[in-house]
Amino acid sequence: MREILLVRFGEVHLKGLNRPQFLRVLVDNVRRAARPFGGRVWLSDSRIYVSDMTDPDACARAVAGVFGIHSVSRAVEMDKGDFSAVCAQAAAMMAPMRGTFKVRARRSDKRYQPDSPGMCREAGHAILEANPQLSVDVEHPDHVLEIEIRDHATLHTGRLEGVGGMPMGTGGKACLLLSGGIDSPVAGYMIARRGVRLMAVHFHSFPYTSQRAREKVVELARLLSVPCGRVELFVAPFTEIQMRIHAQCPEAYGTILMRRQMMRIAERIARREGAQALVTGESVGQVASQTLEALGCTDDACSMSVLRPLIGFDKSEIIARAEKIGTFETSSLPYEDCCTVFTPRHPATHPRLERIREAEALLGEALEAMLDESAAAAEKVVLREGHTEGTEN
Ligand code: ATP
Ligand code: MG
Repeated sequence: MREILLVRFGEVHLKGLNRPQFLRVLVDNVRRAARPFGGRVWLSDSRIYVSDMTDPDACARAVAGVFGIHSVSRAVEMDKGDFSAVCAQAAAMMAPMRGTFKVRARRSDKRYQPDSPGMCREAGHAILEANPQLSVDVEHPDHVLEIEIRDHATLHTGRLEGVGGMPMGTGGKACLLLSGGIDSPVAGYMIARRGVRLMAVHFHSFPYTSQRAREKVVELARLLSVPCGRVELFVAPFTEIQMRIHAQCPEAYGTILMRRQMMRIAERIARREGAQALVTGESVGQVASQTLEALGCTDDACSMSVLRPLIGFDKSEIIARAEKIGTFETSSLPYEDCCTVFTPRHPATHPRLERIREAEALLGEALEAMLDESAAAAEKVVLREGHTEGTEN
């Protein structure tokens, strides 16, 4: 008899012929999460198991944060040969409990006796006999004791909910436009949770934005690299383009013209690095540049698909998610964003694409070269599993 983690996975079940490959990636990712706790990880009969952990609770939390994991239980694993021993173990595990309970049982080994209803009956009986403080309630129990019969018998009384999603690395690669705000890290997390590898681009406008603002974004990318494994952040210079827009274009269009250039530079870097889509933290109506017309004008500037997972979310919902994934505190630090520095007093909220294109033409032929230059000059910072790995230029 020993303590293990019993790990359930979700949608990977649906993957048909790709299932073995999805499972291989998922097991590797669980192994990486369990490594700091010395855990041994294996796959058997539709479950992942972890044994030999130094800190089972911390290990369970780390594994529950792996994309693709549905839930994790701290469980006791024992020989299934003698079901009366399993019942005795169930009774012992329920000894600290008060109130009502029920037993849930399943067997993947259909020859095993007793069958599932029989297991519930026998284990329930043993629990009641040893624990007079407990009573049975099959509708709304305070506690559920679960027994699974597979290679072994496993018993547990609780589930830690996993983050769900798909195994990291099975869904291609996307490029997140990462500001220092609350929204974009949440947007990146949501796409990454679908198994998509993340890279990120941040635009900074030195000296209008400080070194501290840059460090804040590196920290956000580092936080994302814990569930994502590896995040490459590209910090792209944006000052010259912003100054040009400010000097040569109508003020009311400043924000949208800026956003169009951000998309273009991000697309260049994304294509160069092999990403298939852009991701932003925009949601309808949040600010002037996020009306439907403004979003349309932004999309017009690039040919890659733009994923906006927060499009229908309220700010309060986004904040709740930021708190849950652990980015809220860092995002809330004060900083100056390149957008806020050059924000027009009266931004156009319902821009016409024709007008925007005309205003942009005022930037002349130098624009393309400036976009190329920003993409080429972007400084690369590599974050891996919560650590800064290095900086290249
Ligand atoms: P956030 O809360 O994500 O900072 P925001 O509320 O400040 O967004 P905008 O400034 O309109 O809204 O930005 C919309 C989106 O554009 C952001 O979610 C992000 O994806 C991208 N973005 C904005 N500023 C930058 C930047 N300096 N570098 C990279 N991407 C940016
Ligand atoms: Mg926003």
